[in-house]
Amino acid sequence: MDYIFPPHVTSIPVTGGGRFPVRRVYCVGRNYADHAVEMGFDPRAEPPFFFCKATDNVVAAEGGAVELPYPMETANFHHEVELVVAIGRRGARIDPAEAAQHIFGYAIGLDMTRRDLQMKMRDAGRPWEIGKTLERGAPLSAIHPIERTGEINSGNIELLVDGVCKQKSDIAKLIWSIPEIIADLSRYYVLEPGDLVFTGTPAGVAAVVRGDRLEGEIAGVGKVATTIV
Ligand code: MN
Repeated sequence: MDYIFPPHVTSIPVTGGGRFPVRRVYCVGRNYADHAVEMGFDPRAEPPFFFCKATDNVVAAEGGAVELPYPMETANFHHEVELVVAIGRRGARIDPAEAAQHIFGYAIGLDMTRRDLQMKMRDAGRPWEIGKTLERGAPLSAIHPIERTGEINSGNIELLVDGVCKQKSDIAKLIWSIPEIIADLSRYYVLEPGDLVFTGTPAGVAAVVRGDRLEGEIAGVGKVATTIV
């Protein structure tokens, strides 16, 4: 290949071997009732909605040594712990009953957010990108194949900051289930192997500062850990 500079490939280790090359990063907004309420919305008033983060925001962060530099131009940098679905099979207009066949595996991730910029853009009716896309803003655990985890539709999800629990819920409390998310997202996009879907965060989102250590865990999936520097 005669690339004029080396192409950037984002990839995440897979439990059991190999690496998962990341194609697109989709995210679901407001998908736990308690978080929707804390953000000022009626959880059942509207269908799920989606946004994207940049692919290279994803960084492998299972071991705990990974650092996340406090991003530029924010004074309100928030954690959002989420179950992440890794897509392994192409599909569009996927039937919810067949959605699991498109899942390669699962991970736990952090949808790190410049909340002040997100709210400013939202209130002005502008795109959220500068609030949601930021350098290293999507720390992710290894990807655990569905053959190992089984289909996940419940299980404890929590986030600790410096050992103190800040977010805690259960995957079963998603407003829109994993099959419903895959079905709805695939009405708009052709899902491809390599796509990741962040499925939304429970209540308890809050600001972090330099020195904070974030540790997330989902029962049966794994752990994500990073330190703000
Ligand atoms: Mn989120």
